[in-house]
Amino acid sequence: MKAAAFEYARPADARGACALLAAGDGMAKPIAGGQSLGPMLNLRLAQPGQLVDLAGVAGLAGARDLGSAVFIGAGVTHAAIEDGRVPDPTHGLLPRVASRIAYRAVRNRGTVGGSLVHADPAADWVNLMRLLDATFIIEGPAGSREVASGDFMQAAFTTALGESDVLTGVRIAKFSPTARFGYFKFCRKVGEFAEAMA
Ligand SMILES: Cc1cc2nc3c(=O)[nH]c(=O)nc-3n(C[C@H](O)[C@H](O)[C@H](O)COP(=O)(O)OP(=O)(O)OC[C@H]3O[C@@H](n4cnc5c(N)ncnc54)[C@H](O)[C@@H]3O)c2cc1C
Repeated sequence: MKAAAFEYARPADARGACALLAAGDGMAKPIAGGQSLGPMLNLRLAQPGQLVDLAGVAGLAGARDLGSAVFIGAGVTHAAIEDGRVPDPTHGLLPRVASRIAYRAVRNRGTVGGSLVHADPAADWVNLMRLLDATFIIEGPAGSREVASGDFMQAAFTTALGESDVLTGVRIAKFSPTARFGYFKFCRKVGEFAEAMA
């Protein structure tokens, strides 16, 4: 199947994206890597009147070292984290997790923000951000706000984001110098969502 017809917009900043989403009155939807939304469009499970492409939004694809924490933009791809192209506050845990998400083709396009907003309970970042107690930074019609990781995910496929909100990124506190981790993901074949992870 092919997607139903939709309008397409490519705003230059998060404010512009929020304005387009607000004007869409519930029928406009952001798209980032398209790895989850694309199939839903093609199966016509989602039929938005307008897609708001976040690929051109300034600052979304970058990361910043903030001293005691790191900001990772919502548009950073899984592959960029896997390759160590963004600062890592976790001594290797983020790249390790990224490298086990799906296949490289999906990781090249899929973004941290897209995964978190899609909010599949089996998704790697959804679980990891909770573990890391990340802070979610959201741009909305009323300005910018921060949401604690425990309040962002409200149920399966449901988050604290409003219809006109854009997730701009997450802030993750740096691990202490002696912090260590183990990470295990159980799935039947490489590239699948986890049946369990720890
Ligand atoms: C074959 C396959 C295997 C996969 N395996 C795994 C896996 O093992 N583990 C795993 O965790 N994931 C897996 N995924 C999902 C993958 O990680 C996707 O990249 C991710 O879920 C969605 O990211 P995206 O950037 O493509 O988002 P999109 O598909 O573009 O968007 C997803 C949703 O988020 C919204 N959205 C996107 N960005 C923003 C934003 N900044 N602000 C507000 N709303 C936004 C969109 O409106 C949409 O509702 C797999 C996907 C595929 C196709």
